Amino acid sequence: MLVVCHTGDQSVSLSATHPVQFDGKSNGELPEASLSLWTKATCRERVKNRMEITAIKAFSDNYIWMIKNKNDSSVVIVDPGDAKPVVDILRKQKLTLSAILITHWHADHIGGVSKLCQLADIPVIGPDQHIPEVTQAVTEGDTVSVAGHNFRVIEVPGHTLDHVAYFCADSPQSPLLFSGDTLFVAGCGRIFEGSHSQMYESLQKLAVLPTDTHVYCAHEYTAANLAFATAVEPNNEAIRQLSDEVDHKCSQGIPTVPSTLQQELATNPFLRTDQAEVILSAKQRAVDANSPAAVFASLRQWKDNF
Ligand SMILES: [Zn+2]
Repeated sequence: MLVVCHTGDQSVSLSATHPVQFDGKSNGELPEASLSLWTKATCRERVKNRMEITAIKAFSDNYIWMIKNKNDSSVVIVDPGDAKPVVDILRKQKLTLSAILITHWHADHIGGVSKLCQLADIPVIGPDQHIPEVTQAVTEGDTVSVAGHNFRVIEVPGHTLDHVAYFCADSPQSPLLFSGDTLFVAGCGRIFEGSHSQMYESLQKLAVLPTDTHVYCAHEYTAANLAFATAVEPNNEAIRQLSDEVDHKCSQGIPTVPSTLQQELATNPFLRTDQAEVILSAKQRAVDANSPAAVFASLRQWKDNF
């Protein structure tokens, strides 16, 4: 289990036994320079409402995300593919479940929903296709209010046709995105139900979110994604540096999620389909890769067999 105190420009991870800092300097308090921007009362309110995002590991490489406000014992769970690790942490930390958010219908994202619904009468928010437990079906542009914050629903078909992402712009710290299996760290999901052009358009919708958005995806695929990114852009220094950081984190058992959108724009080949080296690599696989969408399709087909 790992808690990420979402503090804005840094994320601090706290393991159960050993505090570990992602970026080596934040102590979880608001940056002093920022204090002048707010009245003290507003600042106190923001500190009180600071969101803590916990990674609950499930299966071999899934992350179930738990959203909790500081000083609040109720939590929201995102994509509970398995109920047991969620129930374990709720009992251990004496927390109550207030809502479930679902990004798409795959079993490793919804497998624990029915058991968790036996714990409490809670809203289950998500796309309504294939998911009988959903009590509040959402579509593009809807706003859902959970954990005292508003999350905008962004439809992102491609991995599945029903896939949605949840974007929180009113976080007391930097914005948050729960991207499910659409946008991964340095990669994107396989296309099971949609088309390449659908997935490309979906990723473009996420690419224009604020660059300081913290991206919480549902799988630990980063090392493999970076191996592919390196093959696509062998001269990208940002990918090389990130690969070093990820190798270190993986060797220590530290999640590589979340990333930021800024990091994705610099390293994720599927968001860099207008870059010269990416286009060149894509054209070596598909000579007709003459548009960003066609470059994306070439990359995705290459990655499927990488
Ligand atoms: Zn999936």
